[in-house]
Amino acid sequence: MNNLIEVWRKKKTAYKKQNKKFIRQLQAHKGKRLDTYADKLTEDTFKKVDCLNCANCCSSIPPIVNKTDANRIAKHLKMKPAEFEEKYLRVDEDGDTVINKSPCPFLAEDNYCQIYEVRPKACREYPHTDAQQFSDNLHLHAPNAQYCPAVFHILEEMKKHIPV
Ligand code: SF4
Ligand code: SF4
Repeated sequence: MNNLIEVWRKKKTAYKKQNKKFIRQLQAHKGKRLDTYADKLTEDTFKKVDCLNCANCCSSIPPIVNKTDANRIAKHLKMKPAEFEEKYLRVDEDGDTVINKSPCPFLAEDNYCQIYEVRPKACREYPHTDAQQFSDNLHLHAPNAQYCPAVFHILEEMKKHIPV
């Protein structure tokens, strides 16, 4: 098991409140400089956190699947779009169309995604910490730190330079 994943498991609950507060402080730093910094931390963190030792997002957060995603995945699975939607999708409490089961039915036992090449856009973009996404998704990072060890560690690194 990856060490940073272990650390996240032990600390995530105790850091919940502090992370919420930290994100409120980050509002004042939103912008290109913060996004470039987040991008660098994302790159460094994913050298240390192996998603194949984790898969917590795929196990616990049903991803949004838009029409383009659904059609692409259905084609890949040689299914009709309507058949795919019936078998794998549902509308959640926010009105979003999402995968209907958690853990995701496409998550294999070895933590590989069985539809990796055609996976939903939401899966490709998670955990939204790269330069294009960090500031725009600031509200997601504290909740995501509860699910994703990489986000947790990115926030911990940021706290060293932007004190809570
Ligand atoms: S489609 Fe693949 S990447 Fe997305 S949640 Fe399912 S297993 Fe994970
Ligand atoms: S929760 Fe984060 S670290 Fe874990 S598999 Fe998903 S993206 Fe990777």
